[in-house]
Amino acid sequence: MGSDSLAQTKPIPIPTQEEDPSSQSTALLAFDTDSSLDSEVKSSPSNRHASIIFIALILITCIALSADFAFAFLFYSSSSSSSSSSSSAENKFSRPLKKLEKPVVLLVSSDGFRFGYQFKTPTPNIHRLIQNGTEAEMGLIPVFPSLTFPNHYSIVTGLYPAHHGIINNHFLDPKTGEFFHMASHEPKWWLGEPLWETVVNHGLKAATYFWPGSEVKKGTWGCPEKLCMKYNASVAFEDRVDTVLSYFDLPSSEIPVFMTLYFEDPDHQGHHVGPDDPEITEAVARIDRMIGRLIDGLEKRGIFEDVTIIMVGDHGMVGTCDKKLIFLDDLAPWIEIPAEWVWSYSPLLAIHPPPGQAASDVVAKMNEGLESGKVENGKYLKVYLKEELPSRLHYAASDRIPPIIGLIEESFKVEQKRSKRKECGGSHGYDNAIFSMRSIFIGHGPQFGRGKKVPSFENVEIYNLVTSILSLHGAPNNGSSAFPVSILLPRQ
Ligand SMILES: [Zn+2]
Ligand SMILES: [Zn+2]
Repeated sequence: MGSDSLAQTKPIPIPTQEEDPSSQSTALLAFDTDSSLDSEVKSSPSNRHASIIFIALILITCIALSADFAFAFLFYSSSSSSSSSSSSAENKFSRPLKKLEKPVVLLVSSDGFRFGYQFKTPTPNIHRLIQNGTEAEMGLIPVFPSLTFPNHYSIVTGLYPAHHGIINNHFLDPKTGEFFHMASHEPKWWLGEPLWETVVNHGLKAATYFWPGSEVKKGTWGCPEKLCMKYNASVAFEDRVDTVLSYFDLPSSEIPVFMTLYFEDPDHQGHHVGPDDPEITEAVARIDRMIGRLIDGLEKRGIFEDVTIIMVGDHGMVGTCDKKLIFLDDLAPWIEIPAEWVWSYSPLLAIHPPPGQAASDVVAKMNEGLESGKVENGKYLKVYLKEELPSRLHYAASDRIPPIIGLIEESFKVEQKRSKRKECGGSHGYDNAIFSMRSIFIGHGPQFGRGKKVPSFENVEIYNLVTSILSLHGAPNNGSSAFPVSILLPRQ
């Protein structure tokens, strides 16, 4: 299977390596309390010279230590000045706009930006947003399945996939027999009300530089030519950033109040090489350069502090290697699962048995085989009737979801039969409770506290966050109405 980022990719077999969580050290000040100076001092009351030397050494030590303390104090007070001042008056209320007439939200997605990638390599621009903005300290939780299209559309609608209709990157509608794929722009597939539609409903302008669903003409949103870019993976990231910046040069009343900006990386590389390859490090550094280009452009226009930047990813990434494979053909002694029943394999196993074949019977026989100890890696897959999936997954209330769903353990893959296909790479789509599926959330702008850390939350909360910042009346959704209050600074 290729990438499910908006770009199509071809996997290349390169083994993944163990992650290096210590790639960015923050140990800037280390105090050596075992001073060699102290241990060398041996006082001898009978020796005056020794006493003088002893006192002198004590004095020198004290001076040295106080100098160190003074330095440490200065260092800490300067390095933490933004957060200490931010916790005072400045961080109590939202900051007034200085140049823009209306709040503007720029929603940036870096596909497959796994939580923790920001520490792989110096990312000064992303860290500038983090230090002066609000961060989900342990990452943003995707919706299940942790795939690109379901998640991007949850971010802009506040709905779980069962409710917004994009239940996979590609699927068959059992009612009509029609097939949804990533270039399907017919409105019938895309339920709910995405943010660009909400904005236009209020007589305001929105602009989309790529986002799943943005090209779909829905309600008042007609995907206007100059503000709604048609997906083209070959457009340089720099051009995307520059075009978004150019919207700020429009007359004030024409500036879109909501904009999206999408980058295929580092998902694109993650599928090829897994999350721990140097290629990912380079992709992350490049995304950081794009954020730097964006910040520069906003600063040149004098609006960096006015514009609200929300940077997210849609999901994380995990390596798939080490023979972590489960083959459906191995279940034949219990039940034969023909390939025609299987609508997707991995990491979302979705099975649609034909009429006359009771789904509950299929589930029971599959689980019996998987739990028997006789199926290779069988214990790492459990299948469910969709109604019996853990309710936290919210993955049942749609006819588009096939009756049988398998939950696969992190890093494992389900295939029909043994083959010589490439094994190693990276994947996502697993249970959204798995930590490696998390992405990032950073909010920077007048209503976000500086240096503020908030607990992880699901991306369905972002819709209400954006409508709250823009003071719009949003459509009903699965996010909590209390969430924006919990994360944003109150208005004065
Ligand atoms: Zn992907
Ligand atoms: Zn993705």
